[in-house]
Amino acid sequence: LYNMLQELRGNIRVFCRIRPLINLESISSIEHIGNDGSIMVFDPLKSQTTRKIFQFSKIFGPTTTQDEVYKETQSLIRSVMDGYNVCIFAYGQTGSGKTHTMCGPSGGLSSQDLGISYMALNDLFNISTSREDVKYDIHVQMVEIYNEQVRDLLSEGTSITKLDIRTSSSNGLLNLPDAKICPVQSPSDVINLMLLGETNRASSPTAMNHRSSRSHSILIVHVNGKDMSGNATQSSLHLVDLAGSERVDRSEATGDRLKEAQHINKSLSCLGDVITALAQKNSHIPYRNSKLTQLLQSSLGGNAKTLMFAHISPEADSYLETLSTLKFAQRASSV
Ligand code: ADP
Ligand code: MG
Repeated sequence: LYNMLQELRGNIRVFCRIRPLINLESISSIEHIGNDGSIMVFDPLKSQTTRKIFQFSKIFGPTTTQDEVYKETQSLIRSVMDGYNVCIFAYGQTGSGKTHTMCGPSGGLSSQDLGISYMALNDLFNISTSREDVKYDIHVQMVEIYNEQVRDLLSEGTSITKLDIRTSSSNGLLNLPDAKICPVQSPSDVINLMLLGETNRASSPTAMNHRSSRSHSILIVHVNGKDMSGNATQSSLHLVDLAGSERVDRSEATGDRLKEAQHINKSLSCLGDVITALAQKNSHIPYRNSKLTQLLQSSLGGNAKTLMFAHISPEADSYLETLSTLKFAQRASSV
């Protein structure tokens, strides 16, 4: 029973991942990483600086491999096959490694170092073929949220449909009945769809990183299981690569860039509010305040399992953003 309570209590887990220094001459703001999930940071550009300590379920240091990260998320992902809704999302400033964790190096699906999305699907296929007692169907959708509009990333052609989030008749949950839903049977099916989705994804130049994506991208995996006696389970896995969390002035945004940044700030703070409300077991959870939280409602809260990766860049220049990411993540994990 204790284990069961622990399990219920730990519905939101927060892992922190620190990417390596890219410019090896730069100075790191990470003072110490503890085996217990603690991290100590400081501002190396200030002569008088206070050390700050944060505590998470797990910390992945700069040398952690994709495989090591996947091992720690595998059991969560596998629970989708048992009927749980699961949400995994990557939070952090642009350039901190979100896409690396979710997809792979620079989003590159051709490389060896594939990220969680791919490994998760691969795992789900393996489980589904190994189970003789249950027959599974796996479908995926891929959408992005850009300026509070949901767009289908898997629809053909150049015109990307704007989608409504609606209550579906099949399970009564909010989702995207109008987004293209593709059956997948193998890892290569998934790679092809993810490549199509990446091509369709809106990116725009910012001062910080010209490939920075200013939209949230969401891969939704629907798993339907049916056992011998006809009992059916229906569950979903949401894999979310969030838009960069950096503050507006950092990218010197004006006009359209400023509008993008304001939408991003608003949806990320709504996500933070939902997660905090869930962590505090509030009776009212403010899902309705943004498209992102509406769409994730079925995989946040209830009996869903949620994992947040807080990504940080160790560079001294990123210290303020690092601190803000750590605070956001700490707020999400404090029960
Ligand atoms: P984000 O999606 O948060 O903007 P990226 O995933 O694109 O950040 O990472 C920025 C850069 O850092 C990329 O060149 C990426 O390949 C590299 N990078 C990120 N995380 C790691 C890591 N854990 N190991 C090696 N390189 C990484
Ligand atoms: Mg990215």
